[in-house]
Amino acid sequence: MKKGITKREREVTDIKEIKEILDKSMIVHIGMIDGDEPYVVPMNYGYTLEDGELCLYLHGATVGRKTDIMKANPKVFFEMECDVNPFEGKVACQYGTSYASVMGLGMAEILEDVEAKKEGLSKFMKTQTGKDFVFEDRMMSMVNVIKITATEFTAKKRPVPVGLK
Ligand SMILES: Cc1cc2nc3c(=O)[nH]c(=O)nc-3n(C[C@H](O)[C@H](O)[C@H](O)COP(=O)(O)OP(=O)(O)OC[C@H]3O[C@@H](n4cnc5c(N)ncnc54)[C@H](O)[C@@H]3O)c2cc1C
Repeated sequence: MKKGITKREREVTDIKEIKEILDKSMIVHIGMIDGDEPYVVPMNYGYTLEDGELCLYLHGATVGRKTDIMKANPKVFFEMECDVNPFEGKVACQYGTSYASVMGLGMAEILEDVEAKKEGLSKFMKTQTGKDFVFEDRMMSMVNVIKITATEFTAKKRPVPVGLK
């Protein structure tokens, strides 16, 4: 049975705050299941978060291990984080790291439709650069665009404890 966030006071539920984490993180770690082995790749991403539905957009080569795995099993787990800062304490157990993160479960789909791929790449570039780009049809066959629709996700924030830095 799945558990909720243990330290509930660190859970982030405000959509504006979740978007801030997604805007800042830039790199997502995608966990996959390769037969009976786990496999994780770091990747850049774009996202949309509308009406509570989170979608991630990835781009990469048309061949490779992650593509083979996603075709065989599209179920993925993802995690991204930002504002990572180690802090010090007086004793070892007071040391730690502040962070904000999002993670969740999703279904990956390798987009085939040219217009859907262009839209995915636009979202990717918007998140990564803040800019709008236009893509030509002929470029679309050279690249894989993967859409991950999150079926569930949570966000968490650990600030620096009061009195430490
Ligand atoms: C910060 C960051 C951002 C990245 N952004 C993107 C992105 O946006 N798009 C993209 O396609 N790729 C990105 N990469 C590269 C990505 O992590 C993979 O290397 C790449 O996507 C190929 O994955 P694959 O499963 O097809 O690799 P394959 O080449 O098929 O993997 C074969 C084997 O190579 C090894 N391997 C693969 N990737 C890595 C790795 N990163 N580090 C060490 N060993 C590895 C593994 O042992 C794997 O089993 C990024 C990497 C980093 C570190």
